[in-house]
Formats: sequence, C-alpha cells, structure tokens
Amino acid sequence: MSKMLEKMGVVDLVQQGEMMEIVEEPDPRLHKPSAPIDKFGPEDQQLMANMLKFLVTNQGLGLAAVQVGVMKQILVVDAAACCAYEDAKEYMHPEPYLCMANAEVLELSQEKCSHEEYCFSYPGLGVEISRSKWGRFRYIDQNGEIQEIKAYGMLARCILHEMDHTHGKVIADYLSPVRKQMALKKFAKRSKNMQAK
Ligand SMILES: [Zn+2]
Repeated sequence: MSKMLEKMGVVDLVQQGEMMEIVEEPDPRLHKPSAPIDKFGPEDQQLMANMLKFLVTNQGLGLAAVQVGVMKQILVVDAAACCAYEDAKEYMHPEPYLCMANAEVLELSQEKCSHEEYCFSYPGLGVEISRSKWGRFRYIDQNGEIQEIKAYGMLARCILHEMDHTHGKVIADYLSPVRKQMALKKFAKRSKNMQAK
C-alpha cells in the first residue's frame, strides 16, 4: 500500500530530512532538463525534506533536485536568508523556507539588476548575472497544494537560479563562450585530481 501524504510545515520538514550527496560539474546531469511532477506524492515531500536538510546544514540560499541527483522539477529556497538582503525586504515570506515543485514564471519585471551568484555544484565560481528585479511564480508546495507568490530581489533571483537548474541551465552558461570553456575545463581537471586521490 502506498504511503499517504502528510501535511507538513517547512520547519518540521527539515527535521525529517536525510543528508544527500551533492552533484558537481562535470556531472552531465547538471546540463539536462528535469521532469515535471505528474502527481505529487510522499516521496516528493521526502525529497524536499532531504534538500532542505542539505541547504540548512551547508547554509546555502537555494538548491535544485538535480543537484542531489534527482531529475525532478523540485527546488528549495531559504526565503528568510534571501529576504535578509536589502533588495528583497519588500516581500517577506511568512515561512522561512520555500519548497517548490513545477515552479513556473507568471510575470517578470522589465527592470533588471545584477548580482554575483554562486552554486553548490560549481564551488569557487562566482558569476555576475542580470535578472529581473521581481517576479510572480506559481508552484506546488510541500503539501501538494498550488501556491502563487511575488518575490523581490535576492528571493526572486534565487528562485530563478534554481529554476534554471530544473531546465538544465547553470551559472557557467552565463559566462562568455571562452570563459565558460575555461571554467568547465577547470572543473573537469579538478574532478580528475579528486578521483586520483
Ligand atoms: Zn546552483
């Protein structure tokens, strides 16, 4: 018999999380699109819990499922940490974390701003990326319910960064072709050195 989905708050969900290993460049999965969730179930909620556990333990702003090796359109965001940024304060999310499945953009501001972004899958790489100042998003939360939010500044940026992951796009893709090639080469070499040890 299949498990029933239990209604969970995001803070309790973190407690339920199990640690997962991070996927790093040059893993080819990072460059492939993830599949949308057809029917949200307990295994998707558990995946969100595991991802939150990783995020909280490693003090990151966001994480996509592909980064823990699961090709599903799921992402988690530390909304409280994002909203601590000056440009995100206009929108304070009532929950400290956001769990989003099948996230989609409803609206993006024409006005953009630029900020350096980092990524768990590209340790040591920082890329200046221009993104919309705010956006409206629709998604399925940790309880399988459809939600809509408007996010500003770093929170919008973080959601868009993780949504990129679900579409197989990474921060290295925002570099010029030459710089991208150099960065990917460096990660390939780093991985070789790690395997040799
Ligand atoms: Zn990332």
